[in-house]
Amino acid sequence: MTEPTLPLQDDFGRRVDYLRLSVTDRCDFRCVYCMAEDMQFLPRSQILSLEQLYDISSAFVRLGVKKIRLTGGEPLVRNNMLQLVEQLGQLDGLEQLHLTTNGSRLDKFAKPLKAAGLSGINISLDSLQPERFKQLTRTGDLHKVLAGIDAARDAGFKRIKLNAVVLKGRNDDEVVDLVEFARDREIDISFIEEMPLGQIDEHNRALAFCSSEEIRQQIQQRYPLTASDETTGGPSRYYRMTDSTSRIGFISPHSHNFCHLCNRVRLTVEGRLLLCLGNEHSADLKSVVDQFPGNQKRLEQAILDAMPLKPERHHFDLDDSPQIVRFMNMTGG
Ligand code: SAM
Ligand code: SF4
Repeated sequence: MTEPTLPLQDDFGRRVDYLRLSVTDRCDFRCVYCMAEDMQFLPRSQILSLEQLYDISSAFVRLGVKKIRLTGGEPLVRNNMLQLVEQLGQLDGLEQLHLTTNGSRLDKFAKPLKAAGLSGINISLDSLQPERFKQLTRTGDLHKVLAGIDAARDAGFKRIKLNAVVLKGRNDDEVVDLVEFARDREIDISFIEEMPLGQIDEHNRALAFCSSEEIRQQIQQRYPLTASDETTGGPSRYYRMTDSTSRIGFISPHSHNFCHLCNRVRLTVEGRLLLCLGNEHSADLKSVVDQFPGNQKRLEQAILDAMPLKPERHHFDLDDSPQIVRFMNMTGG
């Protein structure tokens, strides 16, 4: 067993203690802001095995990472996810093991995930109207997702958070309904500004842009909000209502840059370590685990060497040609 090294830190003095791990680029939905309708997914030969995902995660934990979020693509479409969760759940030093899911398979998996050691869960939910939900996800069935949310609550997850991407003219009239849905179930909800990741033709991102401030004002008219300094270690800024335990979060990559507080890196399922959501700076960890299987020192050194690549901030632009050509399902949201 190697001795723990100094914690991860970038050239701007930011500590990295949070890893978002994409376990697949595949998904059973085709959300209009995340993917093109006709997506090409990676051949299996190019993706990390579960063992490699585990080895890389444990190297991060030895280097001081305290939180891992499993994401994708849709993490629950990957075979044997429970096995990975169980192994990661036992890593010494890992304080939080979370999952972001579209909820379509939670009905089946919520309970075993909890038993395997998952500590928190984020579920994406952009609409409470079945037809609209289908349009936004292209293939999703709202009733299955609602059953998944119930299953997560029944399984006893302490904090469940919904994530909603809000698009003008598509679901911005449902903001208060979504808040009420969360309040009724005593769960949290975050509203996300759409990011220009990948080229999409389905809508014009500039026209669909709905700022966190517009959303906050809509909610404020119905439920007075008080800013809170709570953090869950991610980019959400939280607000509280006086008469509910639910927190309302805003993730505002355009209108409220959060880069100075960034404590995260992402690993794509191709083994590319992305130092920033909105930049292409990356390091190839797959070649390290392919060439030197089981060599923890090499892996830790490759991770340490990548830290100076972390850029100071992202620059998202709302024009029609995204600077970042990878889609969110590749990035690991
Ligand atoms: N499939 C899972 C899900 O949908 O929750 C996990 C992966 S998904 C890429 C993670 C989160 O990214 C979701 O909440 C989704 O709404 C969000 N997302 C996807 N594309 C986005 C974009 N272009 N801008 C902002 N958020 C996006
Ligand atoms: Fe799939 Fe999640 Fe992307 Fe929707 S946001 S297409 S559910 S990966």
